[in-house]
Amino acid sequence: MASNPTAATTLNKDDLIVVTGAGGFIAGSLVRYFHDSGFTSIRAIDKKPLPKWYQRVPGVENLSMDLSYRENCTRAVEGAVQVYNLAADMGGMGFIERFRVECLRSVLINTHMLEASYNAGVQRYFFSSSACAYNVDLQNDPNARALKESDAYPAMAERGYGWEKLVSEIFCQEYWAERKMKTFIARFHNVYGPDGTWDGGREKAPAALCRKVIEAQDSGVLEITIWGDGHQTRSFMYIDDCVKGIDLIMHCDDLIATPINLGSSELVSINQLVSKIEDVAGVKLERNYKADAPLGVAGRNSDNSFIKKVLDWEPDTPLSEGINKTYAWIKGQYQDRKAGKPTPAGEAEDF
Ligand code: NAD
Repeated sequence: MASNPTAATTLNKDDLIVVTGAGGFIAGSLVRYFHDSGFTSIRAIDKKPLPKWYQRVPGVENLSMDLSYRENCTRAVEGAVQVYNLAADMGGMGFIERFRVECLRSVLINTHMLEASYNAGVQRYFFSSSACAYNVDLQNDPNARALKESDAYPAMAERGYGWEKLVSEIFCQEYWAERKMKTFIARFHNVYGPDGTWDGGREKAPAALCRKVIEAQDSGVLEITIWGDGHQTRSFMYIDDCVKGIDLIMHCDDLIATPINLGSSELVSINQLVSKIEDVAGVKLERNYKADAPLGVAGRNSDNSFIKKVLDWEPDTPLSEGINKTYAWIKGQYQDRKAGKPTPAGEAEDF
């Protein structure tokens, strides 16, 4: 593990790194990570107006541009040595089940970003895929076996969002096969942590449940509504593991054009996740189950055999530790919002 190449060991500090989706959760943290690693030339891009970005890192070139347009992608990658494409229209199950067309249209971003990067002579290109690209028929049971990389085929991805990811993976693979541009593809499994969406409709389960526990305590109504029966299972990767994994994958030549899981293998049910959050908050709530809510698959976990073999590493922040930090951050945001301060990651959207 100590000898794995990273950006810090392979790039010059003033090489231009481009990160898309940087007004959002993961890419925002990736920008901070590169900045804190001493990189001086970082371009961060998102279609959201700057005041709505979750993080704005000092010294970074921040551009507000819609990357579903070809000419914006050309501008985005000018002079870039590496490109990390994390921009996508996405959210938790409530969003991706309802807005399949919006999710599918993210194919425009990756299509134009790849071509622009190729034309600009970019050395390495990263694409954030998702566990939603896996065959849903393998995920019908809360105790389903963990997903390994070959389980994406025969293909039966999640409608909308998952198919977009699979098709964009194929684009990345063919840009290497046919044109020799080095592309890297990580299939993220649920990522959580501070500086991500916690309200407004796009938030995912860990942030949504932290917020609900905080709201219950604040209102004194000690109840919580859980989507489904709470038996559905998932694994959750802490954000610090995610950005480190992106760096390691991007600089591993054994992984060129090779999709790889980037996720935790600590499987929990949603009921267990709620219990962990209750422990952090020091409260026990009455649970109400909403059977007709958007649920996604019954069970999903990351098989980490491949990443352990190639990188001798896997995401390993314990869920309790990550939830502790996430809960504290969301509580701070909740209190700020109550006090009338701006909290971009918790704003309602007009959809
Ligand atoms: P996010 O919604 O917080 O960030 C995505 C950002 O992309 C948003 O800020 C959005 O404004 C931006 N964007 C959307 N369309 C754009 C466009 N046309 N031009 C420019 N910017 C655009 O989501 P995130 O959780 O940070 O996800 C980042 C990436 O990781 C996405 O590709 C997502 O599909 C993938 N992913 C995330 C998870 C997870 O659990 N968070 C899991 C699997 C995959």
